[in-house]
Amino acid sequence: MPLPLALPATSAERTQQIADIDAALASKGLRLRFIPWLEKSYEEHRSVARNRSIARYLVIYLAAKLLFLWCNLQVGSTVFRVSITLRLGIVLPLTVLAVYLLLGPFPAWVKGLAAFAPLTAETALVMLLGRLSGSAVADRYVFAAGVGIFAQTLLMPAPFRHSWRGLLVNLVLFCSMGLVVWPGHFGPRISSDYLVFVVGFSLPALYERHSRERSRRRDFLLNELNRMHVEDILTINAQLSRLSNMDPLTGLFNRRYLDAALVRLCKVAFSKGRWIGLLMIDIDRFKELNDTVGHQHGDFCLEQVAQVLQNSVRVGVDTVARYGGEEFCAILPDADEQQAAAIGERARKLIEDAALPGVHGSVLTVSAGAAAIRGRIGSRFRPQDIVANADQALFAAKRAGRNRVISAGQQVTPETEAVLTRKIPKSATH
Ligand code: GH3
Ligand code: MG
Ligand code: MG
Repeated sequence: MPLPLALPATSAERTQQIADIDAALASKGLRLRFIPWLEKSYEEHRSVARNRSIARYLVIYLAAKLLFLWCNLQVGSTVFRVSITLRLGIVLPLTVLAVYLLLGPFPAWVKGLAAFAPLTAETALVMLLGRLSGSAVADRYVFAAGVGIFAQTLLMPAPFRHSWRGLLVNLVLFCSMGLVVWPGHFGPRISSDYLVFVVGFSLPALYERHSRERSRRRDFLLNELNRMHVEDILTINAQLSRLSNMDPLTGLFNRRYLDAALVRLCKVAFSKGRWIGLLMIDIDRFKELNDTVGHQHGDFCLEQVAQVLQNSVRVGVDTVARYGGEEFCAILPDADEQQAAAIGERARKLIEDAALPGVHGSVLTVSAGAAAIRGRIGSRFRPQDIVANADQALFAAKRAGRNRVISAGQQVTPETEAVLTRKIPKSATH
């Protein structure tokens, strides 16, 4: 399974997403809404925190309004009674309901209504109290209602589309109660003055909400862009790191990965006092095969042998790598020399049984050398020594006639004995 040699291009979908975000960042108009997918993602990202802060705001705002009961008491007992009854009977339950709707799984428009309902009820209540209070102090109530409308437009952390609708509803209520329902009581002059006052303050407040939302949306776009770039870089890094550790022809790990894995796995084995086994495997008469049947067939054989080797080791435990040329290496944690040789023998047999065409009408075979060590941290044994031991055993297998597995301990020649004694000091083994 040859690896892709080129990095996968960033997906078309991701390219489109980045273009959409760039376009939204470049847009200059008053319009705040993004295109549908981006708007959905913004709402998903923003709505929970926003609804929580609206709910907090409602509770604080309406609790602070209870202070006004004291003012109502100063005006008269009727005003006080109406005020406390309507606040506790209507505004408070509306606030509780609004908090419930804002924090629950309800559509955005329900939450928008819920956010402004208690505040609108408060506007109506204040206007009604003004009507009941008598003309001497009525204008104070109209003033208070106007300040309330201005304050909720400016301070309520609602989306802009809800802010302007809330302002409109409150202005209509303010005008209809002041100018239409009780015109004689408040007097058209007072109410129209206050209308100008409320609109005069609320419009800049609305503008402020618009720019605040615009900058929040901009931050969201920049964060999204950043997140996508980081995600892309991580994906590409993972790809690069995978490619840098892989052999492109066989799909096995390469020598770079093998060397690092050997050090790491030896450390693990040594720290736990466990065996670690290693196989060096070499295709027999491969040069001749290349020279007679051709390099393409040689490459095909390398791929096939790699696959058989991969299938003959323990999944998720052993590491098979292409050591170089037509040589492979397998690291076998928890395998002693006998077990390593047994795994090698299984691989050798499977490759022989695959009956890949070899030289002069024979089948392709491999030879293998097996070695194992049980060292401990601090011993003089170096991870690459086990490779040298397996390599010596492989050399012995070649000399003994090829197509066989020999383990390091089986070697009888004086030269290999010398190597073993030198490479594995007795102190390093248990
Ligand atoms: P022995 O049985 O003693 O191992 O003999 P051999 O011919 O297999 O060993 P030798 O080391 O003489 O030859 C190895 C050959 O492997 C030489 C080289 O052309 C070939 N080779 C190395 N890498 C590749 C590769 O990627 N593709 C192909 N087709 N051949 C390769
Ligand atoms: Mg070789
Ligand atoms: Mg060879």
